Amino acid sequence: MNEKNKTKIKNAVTDIIQAIGDDPERASIQETPARVATAYEEIFSATGKKHFEDYKIFNVDENADMVVVQDIPFYSMCEHHLLPFFGTVNVAYIPQNGKIIGLSKIPRLVNFVARRPSVQENITVMIADELQRILNPKGVAVSISARHLCMEMRGINKSGLSTYTNKFSGVFSDDHELKNEFLQQTRQK
Ligand SMILES: [Zn+2]
Repeated sequence: MNEKNKTKIKNAVTDIIQAIGDDPERASIQETPARVATAYEEIFSATGKKHFEDYKIFNVDENADMVVVQDIPFYSMCEHHLLPFFGTVNVAYIPQNGKIIGLSKIPRLVNFVARRPSVQENITVMIADELQRILNPKGVAVSISARHLCMEMRGINKSGLSTYTNKFSGVFSDDHELKNEFLQQTRQK
């Protein structure tokens, strides 16, 4: 993010502090607009970026079985209220022609997808679509369990509720046994 945009965020946060009836000159919040700008730079660092590029592809034995990465934590901001939603992601795929991606890249892909204003459904689909694009595997499965602060702090005001979303493609959508194997293995508490 360039300095011009960070200044825009600082000024906007100063306006918000004023508008909610607080005093931006109050000693302990004087630095808040600058801190929010720095936090937003990280939280929204992938905004507008379509494709994940930070990966290498490896080749393994042709008959590689299902690859599962479980309980990957993620933090995102809902695009309707700019309030956090967060939880865990499970990702699985069945390699094709022995093509796999480094395991540590899957949590990075999750961050890439999450660090923008979004909704849980889009994050779920985007993780699946990017893996499909990068590896062209036989199938991809993604499941997400998340808590939404815009529901918990306001609106229906129910805390501790989780929202579940899934996306299945290729063999995972055709083969119910495989889908169930994934869902059972990754059952979200
Ligand atoms: Zn929301």
